[in-house]
Amino acid sequence: MFVGDGSRALERAGEEVLECRWCDLWRSGTRAVFGSEAPNAELMLVGEAPSEADLRTGEPFSGPSGELLDEWIEALGLSRERVWLTNVVKHRPAVEEKGREKNRPPRASESKACRVWLDIELEQVAPRLILALGGSAGKSLIGKDFRITQHRGVALPGPSGVPVVATFHPAYLLRLRSPELEAAQQAVQADLGLVRDLLARR
Ligand code: SF4
Repeated sequence: MFVGDGSRALERAGEEVLECRWCDLWRSGTRAVFGSEAPNAELMLVGEAPSEADLRTGEPFSGPSGELLDEWIEALGLSRERVWLTNVVKHRPAVEEKGREKNRPPRASESKACRVWLDIELEQVAPRLILALGGSAGKSLIGKDFRITQHRGVALPGPSGVPVVATFHPAYLLRLRSPELEAAQQAVQADLGLVRDLLARR
């Protein structure tokens, strides 16, 4: 899987993150999930945290939200093999509710602790453009005042000046029903159009 520029450093980070203890999320006893796939991708997509399905596969964006994200990537004229997919935190934050573990957003302290891994990915992949998926990614990449409803759909300066476009997280759309779903789908299509335009610029 790991070929091209920066691939060794990313491969090493992907092994070392499995032993990370920099925040309490490792105590869940579940594995860390590092980014993948193209180490020299022009576009990096950053989500919130690994899902339950990701813990089984060891790959980010497995399961239903990954399937929807694949459609979005395809709409950009790309494929998983041509982008770098990752999350703000590499261990899954969860809460127990009625005897079941549910995803929860990472705390600011957890995002901050895990930033070192995201920074390695940003440095090694060196994308031209970042697509932030959801509020946690927007806050991590754009700033703590980021609000998805206010700041999605425009290119804002991100880490090292790399432009960041924010849109909704695919898992959010999977929870919506009509008419909110259609409105969110339209917003995502507009955001993907902007990403496509920005990538087409040289
Ligand atoms: S979430 Fe990130 S910082 Fe926290 S233990 Fe896992 S890899 Fe380390």
